[in-house]
Amino acid sequence: MIIIMLGAPGTGKGTVGNLLALKLKIPHISSGEIFRAYINSDDEIGKEVKSYVSEGKLVPDELTIRILEKRLQEPDIQNGCILDGYPRTARQAESLDTLLKAQKRSVKVAVNLSLSDDEIVDRITKRRTCPNLECREIYNLDFKIPKIENICDKCGTELVIREDDNEATIRKRLENYHNISENLIEYYQHKDILYTVKLNNESNKVSSDIAKEIEEYLKK
Ligand code: ADP
Ligand code: ZN
Repeated sequence: MIIIMLGAPGTGKGTVGNLLALKLKIPHISSGEIFRAYINSDDEIGKEVKSYVSEGKLVPDELTIRILEKRLQEPDIQNGCILDGYPRTARQAESLDTLLKAQKRSVKVAVNLSLSDDEIVDRITKRRTCPNLECREIYNLDFKIPKIENICDKCGTELVIREDDNEATIRKRLENYHNISENLIEYYQHKDILYTVKLNNESNKVSSDIAKEIEEYLKK
């Protein structure tokens, strides 16, 4: 089962995607995480990727597609995966369709998490991330507070603020989202596989509720 997580940065795609992957026992593939691993490795590709990510720009399609297509041919995703952050442009979506078609597979559902820009900025500035690549737990200073200040509940690593989680970069990422990635909502709506979850910071819907809601939807 292949599930795509759509939605602007900061809507909780990563957290919800992680939970869904655990429930459905399929890998969670996050393009942002893959790029951050390249950045950490500090090789040529890492440097190139960093020059875009640190400014809130999209990594160019050609490089993104090359990296993600390689990942999507690995054997662990035979039973499907949660695709979080990919595709993000029309070209990426078309290329994914072509790849899946060749594998005789297709996307089951594209989940669209929707939240207003102001609420997104509020959430991202309060986001803290566990940098341990084996863990990657995501916290929020309002509604997912670590038990010990600034320490990951799960693995004890000191939490960090992602380098691209500052207001200027967030605004840039939101602009990209509205200009480029938001068009994918229509793309998947047209294919009749879109499922939208409307969010707001006041409702106490936490990520586990959202994951459950999506799981119920998948059973229908
Ligand atoms: P967010 O959704 O909060 O922006 P991600 O971890 O998904 O965070 O992505 C971080 C950054 O990685 C993006 O701002 C962008 O620079 C890059 N990126 C991730 N996915 C893609 C993609 N599919 N195409 C181009 N760039 C991407
Ligand atoms: Zn951790």
